[in-house]
Amino acid sequence: MSKNEIIPRSQWPFIEVLSDEHTRDLETVNVYVTKVEPKQTKQVLGFVQKHLPPLQNLEHCRRVRRTTLPDSNFELTLILCQENTISTEDIMKRASDQGLKEMIHIETVPVPKYAPLNRTQFEGWKHLWPILFREDTRQDPKFRPSDITAIENHLKAVTTLGSESAYARIVDPTDHQNKVIAEAADTRSTSHHPLHHAVMNCIDAVATLEKQHRGIETGGRPKRKVEEITDGPAEGGQKKTAYLCTGYDIYISHEPCAMCAMALVHSRIGRVFYNIPTKTGCLGTLYKIHSHSSLNHHYRVFRKETSSSSLSSTTTTTTLSGKEGL
Ligand SMILES: [Zn+2]
Repeated sequence: MSKNEIIPRSQWPFIEVLSDEHTRDLETVNVYVTKVEPKQTKQVLGFVQKHLPPLQNLEHCRRVRRTTLPDSNFELTLILCQENTISTEDIMKRASDQGLKEMIHIETVPVPKYAPLNRTQFEGWKHLWPILFREDTRQDPKFRPSDITAIENHLKAVTTLGSESAYARIVDPTDHQNKVIAEAADTRSTSHHPLHHAVMNCIDAVATLEKQHRGIETGGRPKRKVEEITDGPAEGGQKKTAYLCTGYDIYISHEPCAMCAMALVHSRIGRVFYNIPTKTGCLGTLYKIHSHSSLNHHYRVFRKETSSSSLSSTTTTTTLSGKEGL
């Protein structure tokens, strides 16, 4: 394997936690169709476009399905419109008015309700009705062998360090040494502070470093205000706003809670890797906060591939997930 080879998704030793839209199963909606003779297709299509309700949100469905018959001939089936937009009597009346009554024989068939967002959905849904899918792999995460090794090492490290309490580590992936920027454990039990989750402590540690770097007197524990240590708005096109964790990765022993997941949104973390799902986890278990459409920053989330039974079978997880969030 060459060191610059991009590892295919199927060979990653972790999985990406995708949005519900990316993982949903086939859902269908009924449409009216009619079989058409090839030479009548244009005429029927013209009627459909002029006299029947337009297809709403079904742009991913091809209008005409071509089916090869056993005798190597083929037949064409054409979508007239969605079932819930008009009655069959009304369709036939309109067809009759246009002199097309003999050409239209209405049937109802289900078609995929949503456009496929990935190849898995496309392959699984296209048998029902021909659908359009343009694969765009430009946005896909690209991991080389060295990236995979670094990720595995960080995940192993936080899991070892987080065997007693959850542990988090923020890393700069653009640094070729994969420099650790900050790391922290969950200190709720020792500090008696309910918000001292590992992720919050780790973000605080980055804030402290940042302030030191900028020569700001912190005077103790910094307030968790990301904005005050940003570079500010772009001026003259020279500087873009840089948030606390812009471009960084975080490795966490356990799936974070809602508060930590939101803190990672606010700090503009680039990617999240975690090892063990938790009962109150909000990056895959209870919610997928990272894919929430109302948020103005979306990070990618990866978790070590574990069977779903690990939620209860791992002693550590059972102990930790009994707590109120990680
Ligand atoms: Zn938390």
